[in-house]
Amino acid sequence: EAKRSGKHLWKLYEPSMVDRRARDGVLADALEDALHAGELQVLYQPLVDLAAGRPVGAEALVRWRHRQLGPVSPVEFIPVAERTGVITALGLWVLEEACRQVRAWQLRSPGSGIYASVNISPRQLQEPTLVADVLAVLARTGLAATDLVLEITESAIVDEHAAVPALALLRTHGVRIAVDDFGTGYSSLQYLTRLPVDVLKIDRSFVSQLDSTPAGAAVVEAVIRLSQVLGLRTVAEGIETPAQAAELQLLGCTHGQGYLFARPMPAGDLDALMSTAAVRG
Ligand code: C2E
Ligand code: MG
Ligand code: MG
Ligand code: MG
Repeated sequence: EAKRSGKHLWKLYEPSMVDRRARDGVLADALEDALHAGELQVLYQPLVDLAAGRPVGAEALVRWRHRQLGPVSPVEFIPVAERTGVITALGLWVLEEACRQVRAWQLRSPGSGIYASVNISPRQLQEPTLVADVLAVLARTGLAATDLVLEITESAIVDEHAAVPALALLRTHGVRIAVDDFGTGYSSLQYLTRLPVDVLKIDRSFVSQLDSTPAGAAVVEAVIRLSQVLGLRTVAEGIETPAQAAELQLLGCTHGQGYLFARPMPAGDLDALMSTAAVRG
């Protein structure tokens, strides 16, 4: 490679890049079949009330085990699904799985107020049928609109202006909107006061800096204050240590998720934990 560095064309065809493109193509071709062949699975990670130490909800996180390639991370295949458009069907499937599963947990533990938190991609926000689709899933699964949170990244919310009325309409039905990975996208905070948002999820990259740098703690504290002023719920992502959980609580963060509490797992492995969920407050 170094020997050919003078020939710029070679740069374009570095083996790693060809491999990546080829793999992308393979994934794109296989993804739609995978959805119908049952190769996809939804895992659930508890969202925890930090003070009570009890689960209040569960985030649905999709997994794919490709027959030849083995496990493929959503970080890799969700962008592929976005590009091909399969994300629309895939996202709706995850939504319906999650709503049905959370409703099942609710029915098994009467009084428990567990909610479903589901990631929604930018492309899904462009769907003219988004509102109707979400309401239809709620009707089919029997989950209350107030027990559903849609997680949307801040760049998606800002980019998809056209989706704002749809999100606002869903909110009038009781569905809540969370800004996912807060702090990693746009630097403009103005949108927060204008957009239909209920929850801020502090990105894991900030949480991981909490106990290592004073600046890290200052940023997290500023986000929590901002969230409080705007009347939003704050959820911290990626809590891995008791020290992080304690610090977050001290700073006023009420909710979190992370390996400290539980990794994403198959629904069946969470049945016992979900039966300890707090009554919805
Ligand atoms: P996300 O929505 O920010 O989800 C949180 C990610 O952090 C998950 O990664 C989760 O497994 C991971 N995580 C949770 N706690 C910890 C922790 O304590 N330490 C560490 N190191 N990681 C933790 P995952 O499951 O690999 O998903 C990655 C991303 O893929 C998600 O980030 C989300 O953007 C996307 N994604 C996953 N499922 C879906 C889906 O159904 N639809 C869409 N549109 N995107 C999805
Ligand atoms: Mg998320
Ligand atoms: Mg997130
Ligand atoms: Mg994240």
